[in-house]
Amino acid sequence: MTISAPATTSGPLTDAEVRGIRADFPLLSTKVNGHPLVYLDSGATSQKPLAVLDAERSYYEAHNAAVHRGAHALAAEATELFEDARATVARFVGAHDDEIVWTSNATEAINLVAYALSNASLGRGGEAASALRLGPGDEIVVTEAEHHANLIPWQELAARTGAALRFIPLEDDGTLRLAELDEIVTDRAKLVAVTHVSNVLGLINPVEDVIARAHAVGALVLLDACQSAPHLPLDVTALDVDFAVFSGHKMLAPTGIGALYGRRELLAAMPPFLTGGSMITTVSMETAAYMPPPQRFEAGTQRVSQAIALAAAIDYLTAIGMPRIAAHEHEVGRRLVDGLAVIPGVRVLGGDAPLPRVGLASFDVAGIHSHDVGQFLDDRGIAVRVGHHCAQPLHRRFGVTSTTRASAYLYTTADEVDQLLAGVADTIDFFGGAR
Ligand code: PLP
Repeated sequence: MTISAPATTSGPLTDAEVRGIRADFPLLSTKVNGHPLVYLDSGATSQKPLAVLDAERSYYEAHNAAVHRGAHALAAEATELFEDARATVARFVGAHDDEIVWTSNATEAINLVAYALSNASLGRGGEAASALRLGPGDEIVVTEAEHHANLIPWQELAARTGAALRFIPLEDDGTLRLAELDEIVTDRAKLVAVTHVSNVLGLINPVEDVIARAHAVGALVLLDACQSAPHLPLDVTALDVDFAVFSGHKMLAPTGIGALYGRRELLAAMPPFLTGGSMITTVSMETAAYMPPPQRFEAGTQRVSQAIALAAAIDYLTAIGMPRIAAHEHEVGRRLVDGLAVIPGVRVLGGDAPLPRVGLASFDVAGIHSHDVGQFLDDRGIAVRVGHHCAQPLHRRFGVTSTTRASAYLYTTADEVDQLLAGVADTIDFFGGAR
């Protein structure tokens, strides 16, 4: 990697540093539709640096074996690399090694918790899991800003257990309506699931207030850190959350790897979600005894190369510095939001909210469907996402069915943002002005 000696150690990345970073990402120098690629879809998935691609390749070339099983030297090597990767993830989010469970992605991590609570509610896990049971009279609280991944598993859990689902609504500016927090999160709440950063609004939610209220009434808190872990410093212990989830592919790593952070005592009390090989101690034809966490939640052959590549991605991010990446994104995000806000007919969802943000903004262009905007931009090599971004209730709250989303990362330049802004203005001209 080229950023071995950053010119400065604080503040946003310099232009030269961003150029150096870009040189590490082969795909960023490609052309699309005859134009240099302007990749503004990192909120969906990030591009990958050579350090990550090399880590995965060299694992297969030099160490590949099934972990935690074989008696041979390669298996021991692979197991060590796999567990070192877990330690890297743990350090990155301020957790202990045994508090990190590998999953395929954030969606699976949330489902793991939901199904573990569901199983506890059926009596699985015995007395140790009794505090995790849900039933009629209990409540699960989410916010109106959630990605479907942090909503539907809770709808399903509520349907299976008889618990009720409640939600913290959004103000018109996209901030959480915290004035009603005490009425919504009551002593009936068993779990509060909240997004740290909305994948539509790009706002960094003041989750500390929600966490404090949840704990005051004895509820657990699950933090959806999918859009925060890649973009800003995250310390789950300092935040005092009970669970946190994130996906590797949004933070420079390959697809197929994600992580669940769970507080040690909670994981120890939870019955498993997926069952099968590698998560047991003894098995008879009738019953099985389970391993302690994290292995209890890691049934089947594990995604070793992806875990090692995620650790390489974290090493890459850490060498640059998460505070600096956050500062860079804040700058890029402001340029994006301020530039969009002055284009007639463009409305940025959450654009006026008085909150810090990451480099992501979703916008509506009056009278022009987001698919047309996306198509027009793609013709210029500018990649954005269009649609509801897996957040239909949030879009409904803002009175739209779809938006165009531009999302940046550490490799995004100010010039790329300006190309997007010019592209949006030209889209409006092309369609005869915003109506
Ligand atoms: N939560 C948020 C806020 C997201 O942005 C996403 C993905 O876009 C998810 C959850 C689900 O992530 P994955 O599809 O990687 O499981």
